[in-house]
Amino acid sequence: MSGRRLTILGCGGSAGCPQIGGADGAGDWGELDSSEPRNVRTRPSVVFTSGEGKNLLVDTGPDLRAQLVANKIGRVDAIFYTHAHADHIAGLDEIRILNRLLGAPMPAYAEAAVWEDLRQRFDYAFRPWTPGSYFFRPVLQTQIVTPPQTLEILGMRVDVFAQDHGYVPSAGLRVGKAAYCTDVKRLDEAALSALAGVEIFVVDCFTRHDAHPTHANLAQVLEWVELLRPARTILTHLGPSMDWGWAGKNLPAGVELAYDGMTLSF
Ligand SMILES: [Zn+2]
Repeated sequence: MSGRRLTILGCGGSAGCPQIGGADGAGDWGELDSSEPRNVRTRPSVVFTSGEGKNLLVDTGPDLRAQLVANKIGRVDAIFYTHAHADHIAGLDEIRILNRLLGAPMPAYAEAAVWEDLRQRFDYAFRPWTPGSYFFRPVLQTQIVTPPQTLEILGMRVDVFAQDHGYVPSAGLRVGKAAYCTDVKRLDEAALSALAGVEIFVVDCFTRHDAHPTHANLAQVLEWVELLRPARTILTHLGPSMDWGWAGKNLPAGVELAYDGMTLSF
């Protein structure tokens, strides 16, 4: 054991679970049992913690503040963006507090196209900053990633590979024995070979029903499991059909649902 940890901050889909709405306005649960606490899910995000206790946050979704507080993560040392969809970036403003805690611009990794989107939507985060001045807005130290690429982040080897997310690409990450593949519909040969031998496979599985235009469904994930044979497959980015009670009775051995606050050592 390397002392590394992967924490699932949020395992819900883009609208969270329950979604806004419902007959009484208290939430639209879809096929989920509203009395099961693990069916309450915030937007998708994880943290990789190094053996030295440094935290690499993956994405800054709209639930970021509550997720960090709930998981007692009081400091983030670097950020990686998988892609620029709102459920992965809309909490970017919280970085100013993370800047204050770090006392420095935040090292942040993303593909060039993702930086372009982020600059358009959060232009104030990219204005010139005077070293030593107060962090009244987020300040990023941007690093461009070009998958496939192996990075060294916070003393961890991070293999980054391209994923097909339907209309846009997203980035998958592997850190040693663990991988995080959110927002993916198809994995090509290069991605599958980057995942060979992975032991903890955290993967997008939005639905147990028919194929979805931008996300893997359960049938697709089970094909990947057959190929990769990870010891544990943890399903994330869970939509309104991925109920805990159903999962307990129907998922094959070694395949399980994520829940907000789940931690995995690797
Ligand atoms: Zn997405």
